Amino acid sequence: MNVNLFSDTQTRPTAAMRRAMAEAEVGDEQRFDDPTVNLLQERVAALLGKEAAVFLPSGTMCNAIGFRLHVRPGGDEVILDRTAHPVQYEAGGPAALSGAMLRVLDGDGGIFTPAEVEAAVRPPGDRYGPRSRLVSVEQTTNIGGGRVWPLETLRGVVDVAARHALRTHLDGARLMNAVVAGGVPAAEHARGFDTAWIDFTKGLGAPVGAVLAGSGDLIAEAWRYKQMMGGAMRQAGVLAAAALHALDHHVERLAEDHANARRLADGLGAIEGVRIDPSLVETNIVVFGVSDAYAVCGRLWERGVQVAPLGPERLRAVTHLDVDDAGIERALTAFRQVLGN
Ligand SMILES: *Cc1c(COP(=O)(O)O)cnc(C)c1O
Repeated sequence: MNVNLFSDTQTRPTAAMRRAMAEAEVGDEQRFDDPTVNLLQERVAALLGKEAAVFLPSGTMCNAIGFRLHVRPGGDEVILDRTAHPVQYEAGGPAALSGAMLRVLDGDGGIFTPAEVEAAVRPPGDRYGPRSRLVSVEQTTNIGGGRVWPLETLRGVVDVAARHALRTHLDGARLMNAVVAGGVPAAEHARGFDTAWIDFTKGLGAPVGAVLAGSGDLIAEAWRYKQMMGGAMRQAGVLAAAALHALDHHVERLAEDHANARRLADGLGAIEGVRIDPSLVETNIVVFGVSDAYAVCGRLWERGVQVAPLGPERLRAVTHLDVDDAGIERALTAFRQVLGN
């Protein structure tokens, strides 16, 4: 039996989620006539402590629209970590769609400090440099290894941004993992951020969709970009119903994914040839070193265990609702076979 640790995007909607989708009341969402979409937007706005929210097809579009809302095209600079999703996986979207310069910081596991932001902000009135405009943060960090930003670090970054009149954006693709791991409500993480969003297609297990939240004015403007980018939908209530079902049934259970990730990390730590510090595994992502990542990855796939290479010497394994304890044991057995101990 396969153990799919490639990503938490690999989940299939459960039977109960599919039932909720089938039974959803729907309408034309872009005319605000879909009651299920409207309800989801209200719930996520409240969850994140914002005035309004908009349902979008993907987290990538949440980042694209978030950036576009804040950045004035033509040389504004976005401060973010080197490993951040918009830097690595959005097909150059920040440049193409927002005309943004990216100022990448070398954070620790994707987490940078308020002092590093302070040092990266361009002097005001400097006509030589780009204009600092936006700070973007990932909670949890993805390629950084599923790390959780401490609340005081988030607050410190927001404070520095405010002092320099910079906008702030919270990429909360896995924000609910941080909430469950640390017991801090989502709205506290999102406090002070101009825009924040959560994804429903990661550990929450829905097939499609993410929701971007912010002030009423920003979200009204976001609808304009949603239309422009082709993200406006029609009877999207069938999708929103899956997201609502996920909020009701798939949040607390993220703790199981975290326990499984920790078990995997501890097991990997005992295998010779694996470089990992299991104490850094806080949520559902396990990033670790091996000497030939592509070959190891290929041999694991032959044994039915899917993990993702992040480079020549790094692999990533992600736990989610379709992986149980037995799956973790099977994965560890495959690792021991492949690494020969
Ligand atoms: C997955 C992910 C995204 C993009 O979300 P999609 O729904 O896959 O488009 C953005 N940021 C982070 C940190 C992610 O992990």
